This record gives sequence, structure tokens and C-alpha cells, in this order.
Amino acid sequence: MAEPAASFRAPVTTPDPLAATAMLDLASLAEACAACRRCGLGSQRQQVVVSRGNPRARLMVIGEGPGAQEDASGQPFVGRAGQLLDQMLASVAIDSNRDAYICNVVKCRPPDNRKPTPAEMAACRPWLEEQIRVVDPALILLAGATALEGVLGIRGGITRLRGRWHRSDSAALAGRQLMPIFHPSYLLRNPSRQPDSPKWHTWQDLQEVRRVLDGLDLGETGGSTLRSPVQQGL
Ligand code: SF4
Repeated sequence: MAEPAASFRAPVTTPDPLAATAMLDLASLAEACAACRRCGLGSQRQQVVVSRGNPRARLMVIGEGPGAQEDASGQPFVGRAGQLLDQMLASVAIDSNRDAYICNVVKCRPPDNRKPTPAEMAACRPWLEEQIRVVDPALILLAGATALEGVLGIRGGITRLRGRWHRSDSAALAGRQLMPIFHPSYLLRNPSRQPDSPKWHTWQDLQEVRRVLDGLDLGETGGSTLRSPVQQGL
């Protein structure tokens, strides 16, 4: 069972010149992102990587930023880590394209897959906030420490904070429940499925997500047919 929600202040962001420009829809947002040069990552990308999945989903998954395969394809979470994310979500009857909307803190690939800088995350924040506003998810999963930092402004502590529901007083996040989870890349490096392993904990976390989704009475995921990572051979 997850612990009670904790509350955090939103990270300080740079002045937002886009704040007055409410996007009409996600297609407009994607078009605007494709022309964005608000930080240096824009001049090094092959493609801007905005999102995949269902823009009407009640669940949003936010990762760090595009990797090489995402940069080439223009889609987030399509490499090995993305495939594992899909499998882990499927283990709790969440189809990543039907039941979730997936995006990243930054929309352009940092060179050599380095962590995006605080300035880059702040520059990209208006796009993320617009995605949250338009999709309007009830639940947000923060995949990895960088997403935890980029969205809630918390540096470190993913091991301690994962699996707990958090809330924020920022306008974009108010009223939503946010749960940090381990990034699937970390799970690829730590493949054990033994009790108390990162993968085992993620399975517990996703079951809690399933439980809360069921409580929202979506009625669109066909019930909770849970299959453990062991059963799935993940
Ligand atoms: S990372 Fe974000 S802010 Fe930077 S250029 Fe790309 S879309 Fe713009």
C-alpha cells in the first residue's frame, strides 16, 4: 500500500514567454515544438520528440528525454527501455498507447544521452505544462530521478520516494497525483526479479497505479488482469 500523498513546491522556472499562448490542441503544440529553439538542444536534434499514446488517457508517463532511437523515430520510449516500460505497464493491464500518454521532460535529445541541465529542463517546461493542461491526466508517473527533478523539483531520493503518491501546488499539477518510479533503463541494468529488487518494487508500484486507476472507474481497461514480471518473463 502506498503511503499518503506528500506535497512539494514546484521547481522555479524561467520566465515563460509562451504562457500567454494557449495551444489549441496537441497537434499545434507539436508543430510549435518542432520550431522551438528555446535551448541549445534544439540545434542538435534530428527530430523533436513530443509524445505517443492516448491524449485522452487518465495516466501520463513522463521520462527524462529522448535517446538515439527516439531522436531518430520522433517517438518517446521506443528503444529497449521503452519496450520494457510497455511490458511493465501491460503487466497491470495498461496498454501504453491506449491507456497512457507518454512524453519527456525535454523534447530534444541531449548529446551523448547526458542528463538535461536544469536550464534545459526549465526552458522546456512550458511545453510539458501545456501537455499536462491539454491531456489533463489524473495520475502522472515520473520515470526516473531526472523526471522527479524536472517535474517536482526534487533532486535525489528516487529510491526513497518511488511508489508514493505526491501532490504539487503548482497550477499545472494541482489536483493530480504523481508517483515517481524507477526508470526502465535502470531496470534493464538491474534485471533481478527477486523480492526487494528494483524490478519487484516497480511491480508493486504499478499495482498501486492499477488500483487507483480502477478506483477512477475508467471502465476502459477491461478489468485488472495482473501478470507478475515473473509470469511475463520480464
Ligand atoms: S528541448 Fe525543449 S526547449 Fe529545448 S529546443 Fe527542444 S523543445 Fe525547445
